[in-house]
Formats: sequence, C-alpha cells, structure tokens
Amino acid sequence: MRRLRRAKIVATLGPASSTVEMITRLFEAGADVFRINMSHTSHDKMRELVAAIRQVETDHERPIGILVDLQGPKLRLGTFANGPVLVANGERFTLDADPAPGDATRVYLPHPEILAAAQPGHTLLLDDGKVKLVVEATQPNTIVTRVVVGGKLSDRKGVSLPDTTVPFSALAEKDRSDLEAALDAGIDWVALSFIQRPEDIAEAKKITRGRALIMAKIEKPQAVHRLAEILDIADALMVARGDLGVEMPLEKVPGVQKQMTRAARLAGKPVVVATQMLESMITSPVPTRAEVSDVANAVYEGADAVMLSAESAAGAHPILAVETMNKIAEEVERESEYFEGLAAQRLAPEATGADAISAAARQIAETLDLAAILCLTSSGATAMRVARERPKPPIIALSPKLETVRRLSILWDAHCVYMEDEKDLDLTIKRACSIAYREGIVKLGQRVILVAGVPLGTPGATNMVRIAYISDDGGAD
Ligand code: PEP
Repeated sequence: MRRLRRAKIVATLGPASSTVEMITRLFEAGADVFRINMSHTSHDKMRELVAAIRQVETDHERPIGILVDLQGPKLRLGTFANGPVLVANGERFTLDADPAPGDATRVYLPHPEILAAAQPGHTLLLDDGKVKLVVEATQPNTIVTRVVVGGKLSDRKGVSLPDTTVPFSALAEKDRSDLEAALDAGIDWVALSFIQRPEDIAEAKKITRGRALIMAKIEKPQAVHRLAEILDIADALMVARGDLGVEMPLEKVPGVQKQMTRAARLAGKPVVVATQMLESMITSPVPTRAEVSDVANAVYEGADAVMLSAESAAGAHPILAVETMNKIAEEVERESEYFEGLAAQRLAPEATGADAISAAARQIAETLDLAAILCLTSSGATAMRVARERPKPPIIALSPKLETVRRLSILWDAHCVYMEDEKDLDLTIKRACSIAYREGIVKLGQRVILVAGVPLGTPGATNMVRIAYISDDGGAD
C-alpha cells in the first residue's frame, strides 16, 4: 500500500477507534502512526491497542508506528469546602501548603516545588487559562496572588506556570510506570509532555536506552526558549498547540509553529503539528475552511506529520477525519508551490559525510529525474538525513530492523519496508530494487539512486551512492 503524499498522518486512538476493525479502517484511510494517550488509557488497554495495531500491520504487511504519549507532570489545585468558588478581578487569592479544603480566598496547592519556585510577577493560569493570577508576594509554603482574570474555580483544576521553571522531573511516578509498560509492549515512539529543559529528555533516555525514540512535546514557553538544546537531544518534536495556547498568548502559537518546523527540519528530525487541526470534525462531517487551511499550512511548511487528537479518538467521524487530512495533504503536494516552498527553505548540508551524500543524492536524483531514492538504513539515520533534503523523487527506507522501519513511518515521505539482512552489497542492491518495483513505486527500465552505509548494517555510516536500473526481473542491473 503506497501513500500518495509526503506528509504523514498521526491518528490518536480512543473510545471511537479501539477495535482492530476501526484501526484497519483508519490505516486504510491514511493513518501512518497511531498515538495512544496515557492520560486516558490503562496499561491493559494500551497493550490491547498495541496488539490490535500489530495485527493490522501483519494483515497489511506494512510497518506502522506506535506513539505513546505520557501524561507528564499535570499540576492541579486541591479541593474546595463548599463546591466551586468565584474569584473576581482585583481580588487577592492565596495558594498554600495546607491540605484543608479551600474557599474564595485560598486553596491547597499540593506541589511544594511550585510554592518554592514562584516569584513575584509570575503568572498562574488555572483551568486551561480561564482564570489568571499574578503572584504578588511569596512566603514560606504560600503564594499570595492578585486575580487578573476572574472566574470559577473548582476541585482539582489544572495549573499552568508559563513563567516559572519548576525543579521537578518531566516524568511523574505514573509516567515512569506507563513508560516501562509501553516499552515492554514494544512501542516505537514516546512523547514527553510538559518538558521544560533538555535534562528532561536525558532522564527519559536513561530509561528507554534505545528501546524507543523520544519525541519532545513543546507546550511550555520554557521549552520554546530552550528549543535548540532540546532538539539536540530529542529524536523528534511535537508542536503541542493545545497547551502551548494556554501557556502563551494564542497569537504567538503560529510563529512558534513555524520556528519549530524550521528548527526540526534544519536538525533533520521529524516534527509533528498537533491539536485542533480538524476540531469541528469531532461532531461535524465537514471541516471549517480555517481548519482545511491550517492542515494545508502545516503541510506547506514541510512538517513530517499532522496529527488528529479527539477527532479520531472520540469524535463522531474518525475515518472521515483521516480521509479529509489525506485529501488536503495530497492536494497541497500536487501544487507547484509546495516543492517551490520547500526548495526555497532548503538548508545547507551539515559538514558530515552523511549530509554531503544525502544532498548529492537529491541533486543527482533530481537532475537525472530518477524514479526513487532508496535508503538502506540500519538505525534510520540515513533516511532521516535524506528526508531532510525534502527531495522530489520518492524516498524508500529499507531496513533489516523492524523497529527502524516502524519508527521511520513518521518521517516525511519515507515509504518504509522491512528487508532481510544481506551481507553482500550487490545482492542487497538487487533486492532493494526488486522491493521498490514490487511496492509499485518504480517501473521496469527506470533508474533509482541508492544511499547506504557500507559495510551494511553500520549505524550512522552513510558513505555510498549508487545509480541502478530496475531490470526485467525487478532487480538491479
Ligand atoms: C497538546 O497540548 O497540544 C497536546 C498534544 O497534548 P495533550 O493532547 O496530551 O494534552
């Protein structure tokens, strides 16, 4: 099954989409990667979903990526003695370490780290930003605030701190146990929520030890400020526009999206644009014009993937939402502006053998109008560097490691195929060409370019380009 678009689609699974039948339909409609959100999924359910996805993978003989999204340190208020309270603009409101139920003047904040880290002038956003407080004074275990935007507060509402770097780990106890369970289940990508610093990724990497790749969800201004360092250590980025739009002024989110897609493309790491892409399709079979434009814009920017959240997890039209995204991406990519835009933003190769070879492969493939770029890749690094070039000829990523082709299913354009190990280079090239033919991407008599690291199977050693013909037997001449 060959996709007719470069941008990939990530579909979140949930109550509307948890059976093998629904996952099959979502996959056939265009979903390349499935996301499991651990904020709403038990370990048993997660294992069930992973098994269902692997079933679909086997049925279609196509690798499918699984992204497990950890909840992260979700900060919440304590409770109120007599139900919800109203706080009005200009009033004082105190958050403290006293577990006694709160009232209209104070509430328990069960996070001593915040009580210690907040400083006068810092903002606290409660209940997804509906109520805004500014810290006036801090005392031991107490923050005294002034209400800037008043409203209703009730038990355990969420707390966001756009200005305060809180010295706790991005992995709460629940995240650690979710992560271990997900790694045991054999997932491919882990998304880390509410990260603030590169150290948060390093901490998760100590646990994953290469068993899954790590996607940094950028949803806090602190993470935006340290984007370059985070990108250095993370394997991919997600523009998590939901929480980003709570913690930053909404009008700044489009600019941050552009900054992040550019930075990730420059680094040659996948970037996913997420949240509210087709939000109205949760209930409506037709998206708004603005939503179509939003998906199209992310595709024009060269994002590796666009993501559906509640649209596919809990909406009334999950399949239609994937089909809609698929159609928008296909249409955008047919426009001449698409490749013109990508070419205009083309980034100079880094001074490495892998980048020089990837840039040369793109140039040769485009100059000679070759039918495809075949990447023989062990760790996936070669395919990522080639995709960084955003070449016009299609990319086929072939690997003898199943986890590599599954992971690469999120990568821009990569048509991923598992290929058994072959020690002999010529035989490998022949087999790769024959797969490209079998997959319907190239025709007899066409030429392709192969990019590889020789000796084969050496991760990160991209050092070879070879032009080959697709010959009668579907192999290479
Ligand atoms: C987001 O905030 O945009 C996001 C993807 O995170 P979640 O859906 O897990 O809140």
